[in-house]
Amino acid sequence: MAASRKLASFRLPPLPTVGELIKLYNLRAEKQLSQNFLLDLRLTDKIVRQAGSLRDAHVCEVGPGPGGLTRSILNAGAADLLVVEKDTRFIPGLKLLSEAAPGRLRIVHGDILTYRLDRGFPTNISKPWEGDPPNLHIIGNLPFSVSTPLIIKWLENVANRTGPFTFGRTRLTLTFQKEVAERLTASTGSKQRSRLSIMAQYLCTVHNCFTIPGRAFVPKPEVDVGVVHFTPLVQPQIQQPFQLVEKVVRNVFQFRRKHCHKGVEKLFPEARRVELTQEVMQQADVDPILRPTELTIPQFRALADAYARLCAHEPALLTYEFREELRLKHVARKSNTASSPTLTDAPSGVAESSATPLKK
Ligand code: SAM
Repeated sequence: MAASRKLASFRLPPLPTVGELIKLYNLRAEKQLSQNFLLDLRLTDKIVRQAGSLRDAHVCEVGPGPGGLTRSILNAGAADLLVVEKDTRFIPGLKLLSEAAPGRLRIVHGDILTYRLDRGFPTNISKPWEGDPPNLHIIGNLPFSVSTPLIIKWLENVANRTGPFTFGRTRLTLTFQKEVAERLTASTGSKQRSRLSIMAQYLCTVHNCFTIPGRAFVPKPEVDVGVVHFTPLVQPQIQQPFQLVEKVVRNVFQFRRKHCHKGVEKLFPEARRVELTQEVMQQADVDPILRPTELTIPQFRALADAYARLCAHEPALLTYEFREELRLKHVARKSNTASSPTLTDAPSGVAESSATPLKK
């Protein structure tokens, strides 16, 4: 009885529905900003439940938009909800919500990609990394174009215990395009196993909670959406700097369908490739004819450790980038072509930047 009274006190007073708010403030979804809204509060409640108990929690919601998910977070008992929204049109509607939940909703008009979350919450909510996670959650239904770069940035933050992870092992509940959600959580040997699977799973426990059909959103996106929950691990499964791990994983997955030694070779300049690849594969005790998708995280750890040992002896190896070499060769060939137009051009795609986003 007392518990139900307490729960009732979290709940928001009667408000216009999210749909009515959208009409009231003329909040047409901007196609350019990939805005797709969730108006069904049962669905937003279900997303919020994946975060675990929010009673008295501090929460950051990224991209609240018209505030459906925001209402569910408040109704779940969050004591302090900081929302970061880029589009000013949503601010008046969010202010209305803030008045309905006095002292519980803080509104930031800003870009989550640059906002300093480490300054967004009081330091006294921090918990030691080795202990339980802090009572701080990040929740969001973001455009796919933002959620993927953002999770890569946050994974690096997990590795370095910076940004939202200065408070401890902050948990994340985020939406992704279904295919990306599957990659993030793919296990060894599965078709979706990719760079993202390794980078997420060496640092976090990652759980693909459920899929939301595209038709649940207004307007309906082309694809279905996956809700993914992350809890940073106390001990990362690979104990090397994030950039080094990223480099090894990126190179190995460069040729997804080939034997993994093909990708490992590309960690080294051409003249040393055979010798150093053999050394790394032997030291790591990894079968060179396994496919990248068949490698376990302990095998990636062994590869990263072996590569790090080599780099410790020869630091110049660390700066070698195969794709950069290709790019330079391509530029040189192009300038030759300009003076001798009969030469054929390099195949397209060769000039791809070395900082290709973490996709497959
Ligand atoms: N959370 C709302 C919902 O579920 O109905 C809106 C979802 S809509 C897919 C994404 C929201 O994120 C929009 O309100 C958009 O303006 C906002 N947004 C997009 N990029 C952002 C960024 N870089 N920083 C903060 N908010 C952003």
